[in-house]
Amino acid sequence: MNAIDLVCLVIEDDDFQRATVVRMLRSLGVVDVREAADGKKALDLLRATPRPAVDIALCDMDMPEMDGLELLRHMGQGKEVVSVVILSALDSALLASVKKMSLAYGIRLLGVVEKPIGRARLEAMLAQYARPETAARGPRPAVRTFTVEEILHGVHEGQFEPFFQPKLDVKTKRVVGAEALARWLHPEHGIIAPYAFIPLLEKADAMDELTFVMLKEAAKGCRCLHDKGYPVSVSVNLSLTSLTDSGLAQRITTAVRDAGLDPRHVILEVTESAAMTDVASALETLARLRMHGFGLSIDDYGTGYASLQQLTRIAFTELKIDQSFVKEFADNPSLHVIVASSIEMARKLKVKSVAEGVETQADWDALVGLGCDTAQGYLIAKPMKLASMVDFCAASAT
Ligand code: C2E
Ligand code: CA
Ligand code: CA
Repeated sequence: MNAIDLVCLVIEDDDFQRATVVRMLRSLGVVDVREAADGKKALDLLRATPRPAVDIALCDMDMPEMDGLELLRHMGQGKEVVSVVILSALDSALLASVKKMSLAYGIRLLGVVEKPIGRARLEAMLAQYARPETAARGPRPAVRTFTVEEILHGVHEGQFEPFFQPKLDVKTKRVVGAEALARWLHPEHGIIAPYAFIPLLEKADAMDELTFVMLKEAAKGCRCLHDKGYPVSVSVNLSLTSLTDSGLAQRITTAVRDAGLDPRHVILEVTESAAMTDVASALETLARLRMHGFGLSIDDYGTGYASLQQLTRIAFTELKIDQSFVKEFADNPSLHVIVASSIEMARKLKVKSVAEGVETQADWDALVGLGCDTAQGYLIAKPMKLASMVDFCAASAT
């Protein structure tokens, strides 16, 4: 898009600074520049009818009455389709948290221009607006919601299967395993991701059936990979809510053995949740599973209920660092500290470290430097059907 067609809104309480930014934008070719002296006026302007088509809002953070944070919140909640440039001298940790917040509110953040504001930086932000990968995605597709009955019906009909996402040894780049992730191959709606059915099943205390489908199919898939000459492990997610039944460990072991697989090739990824009421019996089940040879992974390490306390009470063999820390950690000082010390802690506890959500080469390189054991993420591959997983193993073995 040409700068000439852009409509910009400058939100800044300091008259002099606001005038400076307006002047710079005009000199960059933006004809339609609007101004607001505080967040409230900016919102009024954005919400006036007919709605003005503002493309980019350039927004100071520290303003009297309604500050930039509150403005971002209102913009997110009001679903204003406007891209935002932050004009501020925030330190990098604070900035990272503002970025996360904007993302959480569904705001498209183009970047930050530090004060004093430079023309070149401003120009870069306008260019960023036109880049397709940051371009507004348009209205999100309506999410179809299912009832627990519909989901369980799909489970009975055999419509669920695991997709496999490879885990690589960071040192050798060899495939050492795969995480099995549930997918619903819906006859009408296509491939459906877990967020549309797992939370519902967990809430209804109806996860067991799907868990067993996943265990059996993942074990079969792993058996198949072994038969083709790839001795990898398979990781299966286990909701802790369902771990209270005392026969469960035996049933899990039997399901895996019946698929022709030794439990030592299976890693169970465990996330604790608020819904877990019977801690003692869940711990008993996990101890028994470990005794039967299963690997145990502390999933989403560092978030929610995946805490240090878990490390002390469960016999984990693997620590899986949550993707919210791994994504773009290489050039974020505080994330780097968190990932580095998690890897270090895993080493001292003599368990494997796994980084999930590795999306960039820079993050991969940083993991190599830190001596992380295993990595998983879109940089390597997205979750895929078993047949593709076989091809992936074949390709990476040569
Ligand atoms: P999770 O266990 O944290 O699994 C990792 C999720 O991150 C997967 O999403 C995976 O596709 C995604 N992912 C992997 N690499 C990347 C990356 O580089 N970037 C990004 N942005 N995402 C990445 P998915 O398949 O949608 O699964 C979501 C969650 O659903 C899983 O999170 C897990 O908690 C749950 N889940 C999936 N299958 C099962 C299951 O069979 N049983 C249970 N209890 N939970 C499951
Ligand atoms: Ca997992
Ligand atoms: Ca995770």
